[in-house]
Amino acid sequence: MESVGKGDAKKGCKEFEKCLEILHLMLDSEASKDQEEYLNEHVEGCMTCFEHYEVEKQIRILLQTRLEHKQVPSDLASSIRSKVFE
Ligand SMILES: [Zn+2]
Repeated sequence: MESVGKGDAKKGCKEFEKCLEILHLMLDSEASKDQEEYLNEHVEGCMTCFEHYEVEKQIRILLQTRLEHKQVPSDLASSIRSKVFE
């Protein structure tokens, strides 16, 4: 169950696209209660989506920080993405 390695992300989850969609809705605070419950439960057993969720959350925080302080390099978010998902 926990042998999903990095670089194998999309194969690790059968419902990856659905999860990703809900994940983004949640980060935008636009997910329904059902969707939130689904994903919260799902990430407990799905390392793939859990990692994506954590990374996307960090990216949001970084972008927010950048908007507030204008100090974070613009390519930081994508470099984090590529580090984690390459
Ligand atoms: Zn998943």
